[in-house]
Amino acid sequence: ITKKQKKFIRKWLNDFAKDQGHGFLAREEINALATLVKGHPRPVEEYINRKLMNFAINPSSGGLAMTGSQMPSARTEIPSQSRYSLTEANSHLPQETLRLVDKYVRGYQRQRTRNDGRRTVNNGPYKCTYACGYRTKRAFDWRRHEETHEPQELWLCHFCNAKGEQNPFLVNRKDKFLKHAKDVHKQYEPETVLDMSKVDFHANFDPKCPMCPELSSSWDERCKHILQHYDDDDNSSRSRRLGRGGRVMRARRVRRNSSIMG
Ligand SMILES: [Zn+2]
Ligand SMILES: [Zn+2]
Ligand SMILES: [Zn+2]
Repeated sequence: ITKKQKKFIRKWLNDFAKDQGHGFLAREEINALATLVKGHPRPVEEYINRKLMNFAINPSSGGLAMTGSQMPSARTEIPSQSRYSLTEANSHLPQETLRLVDKYVRGYQRQRTRNDGRRTVNNGPYKCTYACGYRTKRAFDWRRHEETHEPQELWLCHFCNAKGEQNPFLVNRKDKFLKHAKDVHKQYEPETVLDMSKVDFHANFDPKCPMCPELSSSWDERCKHILQHYDDDDNSSRSRRLGRGGRVMRARRVRRNSSIMG
């Protein structure tokens, strides 16, 4: 089953559930969906079962039923964000590093919340999934913003730390770390300082997509998946304006990543 087919299936199921107000899928509908993606019903059904947790087999009908996100799935344990404990997940780190990391991540998340709502320039198709109101026109900025809510990579300056400084330089952005290395540790190659300072940090991430039943297996996959939704939405609002048909595909290629005006 190809990426393109998967994307189509996700979108189709989403629309289906929205239109029908329920997630029941009859056998004929799975077959129809398979025909639409020019695939066999079996892998389509398997994909839905494996990846889209809210759709499950309904044995009485031989079809699939959407079970609702609040219902626990018997088949797969859904990792829950609330169950994540930074200190437990990172107990392999030296105690002092762990203390600094914990303080940093908590402080960072608090700071973000305090600054929410202060932004004046907020537009573009890419919206923050942590509901702070941030939006942007650039996918790159969007991802970087998401990582302010949930830091994924950390660098704790090896040299500042070795000197026993009380607050050694610790940051979740590579560009900021490289700047620190260049400014403060001029005698070393910045990239070398970067490599020496990378924390083996086990970050938190919520595998559940906020927009569909898809589960991602990594932060990277999650971000790419969510961006796909925004691009799809962007294109479908554009296609409503342009009318359906071939022009949409052309517009999509040409105007990808540009803002929607009007
Ligand atoms: Zn945000
Ligand atoms: Zn340093
Ligand atoms: Zn999704």
